[in-house]
Amino acid sequence: MHLKPVFAANWKLNHTPTDARSFLQRFLALTPRQQDRTIVLCPSAITLTTVTDGLRDRPDIWVGVQNVHSEAQGAYTGENSVLMARDVGARVVLVGHSERRHVFGETDAMMTKKCALVAQARLTPILCVGETLEERESGAAATVVERQLAAGIAEMDDTQVGAMMLAYEPVWAIGTGKTATPEDASDIHGVLRRALAERIGEKAAAGVPILYGGSVNRGNASTLLSSPDVDGLLVGGASLDPDGWSSIVRSSATSTE
Ligand code: PEP
Repeated sequence: MHLKPVFAANWKLNHTPTDARSFLQRFLALTPRQQDRTIVLCPSAITLTTVTDGLRDRPDIWVGVQNVHSEAQGAYTGENSVLMARDVGARVVLVGHSERRHVFGETDAMMTKKCALVAQARLTPILCVGETLEERESGAAATVVERQLAAGIAEMDDTQVGAMMLAYEPVWAIGTGKTATPEDASDIHGVLRRALAERIGEKAAAGVPILYGGSVNRGNASTLLSSPDVDGLLVGGASLDPDGWSSIVRSSATSTE
């Protein structure tokens, strides 16, 4: 791994503003400023301003949102926009998390619009891609993630693609306790890197962080980070506990490529 590693927490539908205050009190006490890595917290939209307030003295920690609507504004009751996210201090946006795709029925066409909108708003999209168990067992994992990546970047210009992040999250590994082997993660990260290189050139593609997500915990974080082409981690369940998350964000690759 040669990029500054990225550790992103996806709190999903967890942590009220009150919970977030307690989390930050403990997490910040345990986690000194980190210059050599990027830490991102993605709380729910309702909890977000509590988190940005709590991080006023910690600009080394970024805040992100878990989703935005595919239109910038309008009659979309219950949704949140990129403009709102930017206004409250978010720097990144998760796009196409598998729960958005599989629980809420979001499509590749929506990812095309969302990634372009997020990039235009000068926020960093973390485009999430990943295959289901059925797709993996039928040998289609690489084709699926290539298709999802192609859709995500279809309406972004090359500079925007070079400034985004990707997360490979096999659907069968999210919240299940099953983790991809470091070799499987590296294989798919390599597929994504090559697809990026075809679009923006090898040098620019090498600068795009590709995170792995799916049942990461403090026990497997270092090994996953040591795998070729794994530039960071996107973590759900194990990011909810401040002690565990602090330990994960302080992990290092156990060996170098
Ligand atoms: C996620 O929600 O992005 C995720 C990877 O979840 P978990 O770490 O719980 O598998």
